[in-house]
Amino acid sequence: MRGIIEVYKGDITKLDCECIVNAANSSLLGGGGVDGAIHRAAGPELLRECRGLGGCATGQAKITKGYKLKAKYIIHTVGPVYFACDRPAELLTDCYRNSLELAAENGIHSIAFPGISTGVYGYPVSEAAPIAAAAVQRWLNENSGYDMKVIFVCFDDISYNLYKDIIKV
Ligand code: ADP
Repeated sequence: MRGIIEVYKGDITKLDCECIVNAANSSLLGGGGVDGAIHRAAGPELLRECRGLGGCATGQAKITKGYKLKAKYIIHTVGPVYFACDRPAELLTDCYRNSLELAAENGIHSIAFPGISTGVYGYPVSEAAPIAAAAVQRWLNENSGYDMKVIFVCFDDISYNLYKDIIKV
């Protein structure tokens, strides 16, 4: 397999892969958007585990079990708030790289990302998508001996078409 990138349109909580990534906030105690959907789908045990993690800094990532999800693991990463941040591109890159690093450390070979920061955190998807794609591609190149399937999960047609165009699949 080695490095594979796919683009998928739909609800990340329904995905059948080893790990899904949550666009969390720094408390890791749940929120709206994809974070709320993941907590609802995984069930209350997720919040219990998250309470013990002590939060997460922007650009960093932490792992939990997937509980009621099909995914065995959830990686929680905190994206930058676009207008409140001096270097959003760097921190967004960190989210993707640190999530992939943590996934590989845990022996994970398939991981699905939502559009981190592109909801409430205000990152324009037209800017965020190429950053996400470049960060993932770079990690796959640097770890070419490791089998990893990366799925970009898009929630609407605009981002789906954008990712399709960038990834050329
Ligand atoms: P952030 O606070 O990082 O901006 P949001 O949850 O507000 O996170 O949005 C991140 C992205 O996730 C947005 O593009 C939004 O459309 C998308 N999204 C929301 N719910 C889901 C879901 N169930 N599955 C996949 N993507 C989702």
